[in-house]
Amino acid sequence: MVKKILIIAGSDPSGGAGIQTDIKTATAHHTYSAAVITCLTAQNTQKVTAIYNPPIAFLQNQLDTLLSDIAFDVIKIGMLGNAQVIDCVSKTLKKKAKNVPIILDTVMVATSGDCLLDSTAIKDLKKFVAQSFLVTPNVDEAQILADMQIFNVSDMKKAAFKIKQLGCENVLIKGGHLKSNHSHITNLLLCDNKYVMIKNRKINIDNIHGTGCALASAIACNIANNDDVILALRKANRYISDRIKKSIMVGKGSHVLQHC
Ligand code: PLP
Repeated sequence: MVKKILIIAGSDPSGGAGIQTDIKTATAHHTYSAAVITCLTAQNTQKVTAIYNPPIAFLQNQLDTLLSDIAFDVIKIGMLGNAQVIDCVSKTLKKKAKNVPIILDTVMVATSGDCLLDSTAIKDLKKFVAQSFLVTPNVDEAQILADMQIFNVSDMKKAAFKIKQLGCENVLIKGGHLKSNHSHITNLLLCDNKYVMIKNRKINIDNIHGTGCALASAIACNIANNDDVILALRKANRYISDRIKKSIMVGKGSHVLQHC
């Protein structure tokens, strides 16, 4: 039976990140994806020019309508935008999708530097971490969640430990934003009280948009297909590295992933 993924995230009309790349990733993984849109961005491959949050009652309606019908195998969460959205998603999933594993990509700032989470909502996002099976911050987001600075892999380990103490089961810190001269990027997973490091050869493309969204979606699909977290991450890493090598420029800004 085909596995069913619920994606709860923001729309990126350029197709490089957000719901659009999540759906493409899920399709490339031969899973069925449904999508609840938390917010709309006006965005191209260079910048985000506006963000529109539909009324919370409508978000609630999307979630209630969908969850009264479909039983999902996994839920992938991306951009939430503000505290009201976090509260609505968190409470609804507690009530209506209690035992479905949540992969939470703690989206805060886009590669372009545009802010995707209201700064007053950090405490709410931290609370939501407790409900998640896996959280996938990049180094910048991990610094905020763990309330410490990260300069190297040893700091990544400390930060992952602190984030796990917020109450989630597993933590993946993506090392791509770590300032280093190394030829590799280290992604660090804390799972079952063990640290697993996955090294990826650095690919020399300055700006790629949507890799974080796609990585979390690929992990979610692999988990839905019954892989354990480590295998799910290893496979997703391979998938994203391969897609990065084949990334394309569709506009004047960042490269984007092509999923087929
Ligand atoms: N737009 C939306 C709707 C997103 O969800 C995200 C990331 O999650 C982005 C933009 C930013 O993607 P990136 O940081 O790869 O540019």
